[in-house]
Amino acid sequence: MNLILLGPPGAGKGTQAKLISSNFNVPHISTGDIFRANISQNTELGIRAKQYMDKGLLVPDEVTIDIVKDRLTKDDCKNGFLLDGFPRTVKQAEALDEFLNDNGSVIDASILIDVPKENIFERMTGRRVCSKCGASYHIKFNPPKVEGKCDLCGSEVVQRKDDSEETVKERLDVYDKQTQPLVEYYKSKKVLKPVDGAQDINKVFEDIKESLGEKNVK
Ligand code: ADP
Ligand code: AMP
Repeated sequence: MNLILLGPPGAGKGTQAKLISSNFNVPHISTGDIFRANISQNTELGIRAKQYMDKGLLVPDEVTIDIVKDRLTKDDCKNGFLLDGFPRTVKQAEALDEFLNDNGSVIDASILIDVPKENIFERMTGRRVCSKCGASYHIKFNPPKVEGKCDLCGSEVVQRKDDSEETVKERLDVYDKQTQPLVEYYKSKKVLKPVDGAQDINKVFEDIKESLGEKNVK
């Protein structure tokens, strides 16, 4: 299954991606995680991406599209994939469709995690992430079992630089202007699956599974 997770920053895409990826046995591809890994390794890509990410802006399409295309040619994507945080612009969505079309493939579902703006601000400013594996926690809604340590790998749990109040405002603005049009884009292609993201994590996951039909589990 070829899946996309759509929704504003802080909607819970990364959180649900971990659950979907293991349940449906598809690789979780997060462009944000790819950029952050490059930043921590101080690569040329990381240095470039950081200039945009720190301001809450999108990394330019031409950079991002090539990274995703390259990732999708890897062996583990043969039976499907789950994209988290990509596409974020209509140009990215069109490039993805063109790439899949050239490979005789399509997007099966674009899952929209719908969360009201008032919840998002609290989710993002309370988010903590594992500095090593990227697992996402929340100081109030989903704290790690041992304070400050990742449940999965035991590494330190930190706040993302772009989760500061000022940058969160910018990122929500960028979402409205550049990413929100993708809701209509996927609706018109009849693959949009809206899910109420303002429920607890497990209930959101149950609704996602239902919208995909458990029969699709590989
Ligand atoms: P995204 O990948 O869409 O930016 P995350 O998955 O990182 O979002 O989630 C943002 C924050 O909200 C994290 O701190 C996460 O633990 C928390 N969160 C995710 N889903 C829920 C939920 N259903 N209810 C409450 N908090 C949630
Ligand atoms: P995320 O981890 O999805 O919240 O993304 C963090 C940041 O990485 C974003 O605010 C952007 O600066 C950058 N980024 C991630 N995905 C994309 C994308 N598809 N296009 C452009 N920039 C992106």
